[in-house]
Amino acid sequence: MEPQPRPLRHDWPPAMRPKKKKHGPGAVRRMMSYVWQMWSNGILLQALGLPLRHLLAIYGLRLCCTGQVPWRTGLLAVALWPFSGLGVTAGAHRLWTHHSYVASSAMEALLMVMFSMADQGPIEGWALTHAMHHAASDTRFDPHDRNAGFWYAHVGWLFSAMKFRLATREYRRVVDRLSPIVKFHDSCSIWWDPLWSHGVPAALAALWGDPRGGFFVAGALRWMIVQHITFAVNSMAHGDQEEGNAYAFDQDSSGIGPKVSLLVSLLALGEGWHDYHHIFPWDYAAADAQLNLDEAAALWSSSR
Ligand SMILES: [Zn+2]
Ligand SMILES: [Zn+2]
Repeated sequence: MEPQPRPLRHDWPPAMRPKKKKHGPGAVRRMMSYVWQMWSNGILLQALGLPLRHLLAIYGLRLCCTGQVPWRTGLLAVALWPFSGLGVTAGAHRLWTHHSYVASSAMEALLMVMFSMADQGPIEGWALTHAMHHAASDTRFDPHDRNAGFWYAHVGWLFSAMKFRLATREYRRVVDRLSPIVKFHDSCSIWWDPLWSHGVPAALAALWGDPRGGFFVAGALRWMIVQHITFAVNSMAHGDQEEGNAYAFDQDSSGIGPKVSLLVSLLALGEGWHDYHHIFPWDYAAADAQLNLDEAAALWSSSR
């Protein structure tokens, strides 16, 4: 039998060709498409701003650690934490995503300012992302799927270029009820939010001669803490169920899912009663009658 001639390189089927190293225009194109996906997801600016603003917050922490912050500035930072935190939990979460209560225009305007101090991007994007989370929580269709890991659910998801869908009915339920106050916020949040989150604390602290501390401590450092508390609802109030947790509303649940986190409840104004919230998302209260760490509900109960 005649030996078969060795195939020439150009006879090889394409699949057998050695892979060319991708670099140059290919890598640039991939990067551009990643950036474009993030832009179209509406999270590019937030993702770009996040590391930069952490640097400002770390400088604020340095000012604290080196004793360069007057007590008034410290008090302002502590006071702005629940003020801006309520803008997230009572505003963006309970009102604008779940529409679990009706607010007067004056109250809605106040909540909008409080949310602007928390500076977490446009309200419509926040509400739609959270609606997607509820529609498919802890699955690969959840924007901050806890199955992908603690850090992905905490912050990594903000750098993802993946696209998620929301049923038209759910989209309309959220978007059609957003008021002109929300639309105003979203039209100018790019400069409006930093003005409230960093500029106003600096202006207030300038009253006692400490605009630098106001900007870096009551502004940037307080912003970072509130931002990570919000992230902790996704990373710490979702996860493996703890057997025999006396506080769990749904004692029969298992696997990764929404759960009770007392720490998150304390820091995020009641948001840590998270299993209850996923079962009854329309309830303005964060849990049933058992609790005393539901500051957001307490505020609304007392205001009615
Ligand atoms: Zn959740
Ligand atoms: Zn929710």
